[in-house]
Amino acid sequence: MATRYTDTPENLRFLSSRLREGDLVAVPTETVYGLGADARNEAACREIFRAKERPPEDPLIVHIPEAFDLREIARPGPLLGKLREAFWPGPLTVVMDKTAAIPDIVTASLPSVAVRMPAHPALRALLAEFGGPLAAPSANPFAYISPTSADHVEESLGQRIRYILDGGLCRHGVESTILDIRDPACPVLLRHGAIPVEELEETLGQTLAYPAEDAPAARAAPGQMPKHYSPKTPLDLIPAPLSVNDERAGRNIAFLFFRKPDSLAAGDESVFWLSEQGRLEEAAANLFSLLREIDNRGYSTIIAEAAPDYGLGRAINDRLRRAAVKRRTPCEE
Ligand code: AMP
Ligand code: MG
Repeated sequence: MATRYTDTPENLRFLSSRLREGDLVAVPTETVYGLGADARNEAACREIFRAKERPPEDPLIVHIPEAFDLREIARPGPLLGKLREAFWPGPLTVVMDKTAAIPDIVTASLPSVAVRMPAHPALRALLAEFGGPLAAPSANPFAYISPTSADHVEESLGQRIRYILDGGLCRHGVESTILDIRDPACPVLLRHGAIPVEELEETLGQTLAYPAEDAPAARAAPGQMPKHYSPKTPLDLIPAPLSVNDERAGRNIAFLFFRKPDSLAAGDESVFWLSEQGRLEEAAANLFSLLREIDNRGYSTIIAEAAPDYGLGRAINDRLRRAAVKRRTPCEE
């Protein structure tokens, strides 16, 4: 079992010393919990991949303290200023050219590095104490549902890690938005996330590009595997609206609505919703914890309805789409 620590100054000094020694510490962020290691320490970062069973070709995001000279690890480029002013600290990750300070294991040998300055107060305090860059992917076994509470981290990785900084529930509940800013004329959105595309486009005064569909995935958006964020229970994603009168009702199937349905039969325990009023922020914050809860109840299938496809709805739909990708059976390989 991992030990949990609150963010007292004494605990932060202790956890920071563990990071300096090359240990892993699970940390809260405003998006999901991360599994952190000193980003300059190759052996420590290797342990992240081992604990998560993450394939080495999936690069890690580096989290920096506010008082940190970014140029130690990256070459910022002309778009960073505006983005930093508008969104940092916060759930925006930017991909830039890297320096030699970041070992290849962190970036899967890419010449670029993904950097974020998190806003969660407990992590900000730990980073300030640590004073350096922290590599941290989500604190879950590879491809499973991301953790949004210390309980989730304990549930999936408690046997493999020793330290968790407990910062309560994650506010946004979906991962950071990832933007590649290496070509200032053509910023590329690599992952939908907690900052909506519309806000980025407004701040930059530019339309974002998306990775070309025919580009080799490993180059364009490494790690954005089709199957990801997935419950063990098979999930079907259908366009809204889902109906509680679906012919499959009553057959050990969970129904996951975006918004609480109006015509709910009393006592129907197989019906779940992401948000009572259909609010995107609330739906995103509930998504992963609700998927975990449903996954632990032994349904044969989850039928989920898509969220509206704008703002945070795009991040929610991206996660649901990847959760719905079927596992291949050996015969299909
Ligand atoms: P997570 O597992 O949520 O920490 O997200 C890590 C993801 O960030 C990876 O799967 C990649 O898609 C993305 N990423 C990290 N580093 C890079 C990079 N250098 N270039 C492009 N994407 C990156
Ligand atoms: Mg992840």
